Amino acid sequence: MFKKLANEVKIIEVGPRDGLQNESVSISLEDKLRYIELLAKSGLQVIEATSFVRTDKIPQMADAEGLFAKLKMKDFFDRIDLPCLVPNMKGYELASNVGVKEISLFSATSDEFTKKNINCTIDESFQRMKPVADQAKLDGVKIRGYISTAFGCPYAGEVSAGKLAKVIERFMELGVYEVSIGDTIGIGTPSQVNEYIQDIKSVIALDQVAMHFHDTRGMALANVLVSIENGISSFDSSSGGLGGCPYANGATGNIATEDLLYLLNSLGVKTGVDLNQVVEASKFILEKVNKTSPSKYFQTLTK
Ligand code: MG
Repeated sequence: MFKKLANEVKIIEVGPRDGLQNESVSISLEDKLRYIELLAKSGLQVIEATSFVRTDKIPQMADAEGLFAKLKMKDFFDRIDLPCLVPNMKGYELASNVGVKEISLFSATSDEFTKKNINCTIDESFQRMKPVADQAKLDGVKIRGYISTAFGCPYAGEVSAGKLAKVIERFMELGVYEVSIGDTIGIGTPSQVNEYIQDIKSVIALDQVAMHFHDTRGMALANVLVSIENGISSFDSSSGGLGGCPYANGATGNIATEDLLYLLNSLGVKTGVDLNQVVEASKFILEKVNKTSPSKYFQTLTK
């Protein structure tokens, strides 16, 4: 029925960082710790823990150092990757001082977006990231790259596959082990994803690609399926579908880990992640942020 499918897929859980960063309700350090602990119990191997960003810009992540210090004392610390987002050298130093072993650096496909998001052009973002990446390599810290607006930009409109490939190339030059290709506004479609994957193959091995879909227009799972059929085996998702999209009012954000797992389980693709346990983690954190989940799977359990 389907073309070749990976036997195994890696899920990068982004709930504690990407999911929580825009929540206006302040969540205590202890609750974040518990949330990550519940996620770790599910078998997830990669959980993006927090970000070392300016606290006046993203107050929700102001406890990054304290949170990471507590994570270090947990029994799962040595067996799970806990990448942290780092915007610049200052953020890197804070992360490095508390023993972060993996960082995520980020840029986008349009100057319009990077200017609004991080107040610089794409070129400038890479100039900023270069010394961070160099230091991380010296320190033996793994680096992941994030590309926002990969399939379309709220300010620049359409994004060509060629433009995306150029940004991927620049991340590869920085020495990242994986590039997360983000459909920030959830505008990508299966035919576009299919086409772009063919076009980026010349600049990156597909086992170094992770897809980061948003379900804003209901295309996320279809995009996952077409990605797997094309040889992609890593996906970002957030438990409960946590994390709105600041560029589309009322729209859903990240693809929910539960929905992703339901699809992968149905295809017989191994993930090592227990769906019921992810639901427990989502229930816990959704209550704290006082929200319902946009995840279709989650909704069937709570109706
Ligand atoms: Mg996201």
